[in-house]
Amino acid sequence: MDSIEQLISLFERFPGIGPRQAQRFVQFLLRSSPSLRREFVEAVQSLGGSVRQCPQCMRFSSTSAKVCSMCSNPQRDPKFLAVVASDSDIAALERGGTYRGYYFVLGGTVSLASEKTNGLRIKQLLDSIPARLKAGLVEVILAFPANPEGDATAIQVREAILKNHQGDALMLTALGRGLSTGSELEYADPETIKSALESRR
Ligand SMILES: [Zn+2]
Repeated sequence: MDSIEQLISLFERFPGIGPRQAQRFVQFLLRSSPSLRREFVEAVQSLGGSVRQCPQCMRFSSTSAKVCSMCSNPQRDPKFLAVVASDSDIAALERGGTYRGYYFVLGGTVSLASEKTNGLRIKQLLDSIPARLKAGLVEVILAFPANPEGDATAIQVREAILKNHQGDALMLTALGRGLSTGSELEYADPETIKSALESRR
C-alpha cells in the first residue's frame, strides 16, 4: 500500500468518515503546505505524550495539572453540572456561549439493543456528586443527543441519581428540544445549543 492509500484507509477508520471523505482529507493534505502537514503530524504525535483523562470530568486534556483547566477554573459556576456523552459534546455546549457550569463525560450512551450501561461512568458520576453538592451543586443537566439512545441514557442516569439522592434538593433537568430529533449535539449550531439550554426542563 502506498502512503496515500494508507492515509486514506486510516481516515476511513474515523467515526462517521466514509471512503469519499477520507479521499478528500488526503487530497487536502497533498495540496497543503509542508508546514501545515508538519503541524498535523506533531499534534497527532503529542496526543500520546501529554494528553490524559481528567479524574474529575473524565474528558481528555493536555495538562500536567491534577485536574483539567475547566474543572480547576474558579470562574465556572458550581451550581450546575452538565452530564454529556462525549468530549465533543462539551465543545458543542461551550459554543452556545451561555453555559458556565461544570461537566461530566459519561463516555457514551446506552445501547438500545442490549440496554447495557457497560463502560458508562455512571458510578463515577454518582461518586462525584456528594463533593459537588458540598461545593454548591443544585442542578444536574442531562445533555444527551436527541435520539432514542440519548433518551434511554437520560432515564438510566436520572434513576441512578434519584436512588442515591432522594433527600437532597438536587434538580434534574434535560436539554429542551430546540434540538431537532435525532440530532447529535456536536453538529448543532450555537443558537440551537443556546435555546436547548434555555428551554431545559
Ligand atoms: Zn476536568
